Amino acid sequence: MEPKMSLWSRLVARRQARILRTSQLTGWRRTYHRSRPFLTLVACSYLCLLAFPDFLFAYSVKHGSYQVFSDAPIDPSLSVLLDRSSAKLARLPISDPSMVHRVYICNGSSLRRLLAPLTSSAFGSTYSWVLRRKTILNRAEIPANLIFSDAPTSNRRPLDSVITHERVHALLGHHFGDARAWLLPEWKVEGYCEMIAGSPSFDVKEGKRLLQAGLTDPSPALRYFRYGMMVRYLVEIEGVDFESLMNQQFDTEVIIDKFKSHLDRL
Ligand SMILES: [Zn+2]
Repeated sequence: MEPKMSLWSRLVARRQARILRTSQLTGWRRTYHRSRPFLTLVACSYLCLLAFPDFLFAYSVKHGSYQVFSDAPIDPSLSVLLDRSSAKLARLPISDPSMVHRVYICNGSSLRRLLAPLTSSAFGSTYSWVLRRKTILNRAEIPANLIFSDAPTSNRRPLDSVITHERVHALLGHHFGDARAWLLPEWKVEGYCEMIAGSPSFDVKEGKRLLQAGLTDPSPALRYFRYGMMVRYLVEIEGVDFESLMNQQFDTEVIIDKFKSHLDRL
């Protein structure tokens, strides 16, 4: 019969066994095992920074359900833009008046790359619940109601439109749960956000001409424009409601074919 060990003795024994295993490793495996606690600490610290980046921003303002942070002074005209965005969100079936809309304007590219490393060149991006559904935005000119992306073309858009697009993402994640929202087809999610936001970055006249002619353009701007048109066609021409739009299956080729004859009404 084995003698009973206290919890402390078991932990010490486990630690010694781990040290012994590590000492038997060679090369990069040994380096990795030795630095694993440090790497875990760095990863956890970075996640905390992504979740709570407020202290990195010198300026902030609260307006209605919006809390906006910026690394540059915030022009008071932002309140008009937030009101416009708020009015659009309030009309949605997934609207949630209790949601706090946290928006971080990163005019500096280093700050943007730190907080949105995978999407720093886009107009904006919105995190899931784990990272508090924050929206990280690219550089903006608030008095001109403009926001910029790092794309070579179609790289400017009304700021209120991008704020609305990103906060619709937050509401969709909140409504469906992040896993289900993530599994929805891209054309539905981005198309719905585009329809609500309005003012696409792609030139509307040129976009309609290209879609009508069945031509494509490599820019994501035209892809989002097409998604927006597909959703608008279903909602405004075919009268599909929100739940049906998100739950039903649609043949995208058929939608694209059909909306060509309605582009002048969209
Ligand atoms: Zn989007």
